[in-house]
Amino acid sequence: MFKKIIFLKYGELSTKKDNRNFFIKILNNNIKKVLNNVEINYDLGRMFIIPKENEFNLVLDKLQNIFGIHEIIPAYIDNNMDIENIKQDILKLISEKDFQTFKVEVKRSDKNYPFNSMELRNIFGSFILKNIDNIKVDVKNPELLINIEIRTKEVLFYFESIKGKGGYPVSSLGKGVLMLSGGIDSPVAGYLAIKRGIKIEAIYFESPPHTSERALEKVKSLAQKLALYNNDIKLHIINFTEIQEEIYKKIPHEYLITIMRRMMYRISAILASRINAKVLINGESIGQVASQTLTSMSAINEVIKIPVIRPVACFDKLEIIEIAKKIDTYNISILPYEDCCTIFVPDHPVINPVKQKCEEYEKLINYEDMIYNAIKNKKTVTINSEDEDEFKDLL
Ligand code: ATP
Ligand code: MG
Repeated sequence: MFKKIIFLKYGELSTKKDNRNFFIKILNNNIKKVLNNVEINYDLGRMFIIPKENEFNLVLDKLQNIFGIHEIIPAYIDNNMDIENIKQDILKLISEKDFQTFKVEVKRSDKNYPFNSMELRNIFGSFILKNIDNIKVDVKNPELLINIEIRTKEVLFYFESIKGKGGYPVSSLGKGVLMLSGGIDSPVAGYLAIKRGIKIEAIYFESPPHTSERALEKVKSLAQKLALYNNDIKLHIINFTEIQEEIYKKIPHEYLITIMRRMMYRISAILASRINAKVLINGESIGQVASQTLTSMSAINEVIKIPVIRPVACFDKLEIIEIAKKIDTYNISILPYEDCCTIFVPDHPVINPVKQKCEEYEKLINYEDMIYNAIKNKKTVTINSEDEDEFKDLL
């Protein structure tokens, strides 16, 4: 008798010749973290998951949020490979289905099986026609596609395939620090980075009392949405008030944003080196605001050595919004809580900042000590995708 299983195809992972095993092991671990208590077996081509009967659909849903999976296939498996038994299995399985045309596909990886795939296709096809009335074969556009795979120790049956999320398993490419604000862009940037196998830890700069507790809660809610794909997520909260007030007091206002962002970059880079993250990730998009012209980005970027990945750099705002809606962050991002950048925003920020001027102005503040303090006083919380969502009531 067959039992219900789910098997997965890896997609892009299977192109990684020598490293394939490494990626698959990480995927296996990631799946185990998301699905408690399921049996998982795998080889280099497939992963087999055996959920409890009453959790089958829940498991199917959860697998659809895990990166590194190309196809998710609900299937039936039977260890009895006897041809007469296989025929009875087919009959049982398709008798529940409503169809008028069908096609049988057979794959035979066990080359010692007494019939080849062409013969098996004919045997099963004519058996079905003999046993079910009013149906016919349609090889081009069948209503029911019956896939049968003869493997060495078992036979598999399946009728549909669900598209997986693709990408690489989270963590397989190492760690990155996501600069996460309450805006629309940075959660999307985080999601896209996770998709490429980067495990993210987020950093958020707050400026109490200029920014409120609600603004922080908003960022936690966004982090929680990302936690769904990242397994869980660490959020590092940096108190930026002292630095921001000093900049505001002492530095010509057209350079406020440029200098402020140079400080954010410096702090993020120090955090990255402490947690062994290889890149920074942020939501900058070319030309979106004064601090995101190419000259601005270069004047800001020059203070650190670590590479900065900007996944939405070349996207239009509408394209970013489309992804934000898909990953369910948009409605949180548009809530009106103030961000530390928006409070201290000058009327005329410089569009083409000059690097020498940045350095000259930075001499007016004792930023190294302030950065040291900000990092020393950082708070870190770990957010799980299943934690209570505190923002639900506001949406
Ligand atoms: P919006 O979607 O409104 O553009 P934003 O968050 O992208 O919001 P920007 O001022 O464009 O705001 O900032 C560019 C990037 O800098 C952000 O995407 C984010 O990665 C980072 N950033 C800005 N403010 C903060 C902050 N308070 N904490 C952490 N990162 C921030
Ligand atoms: Mg932006």
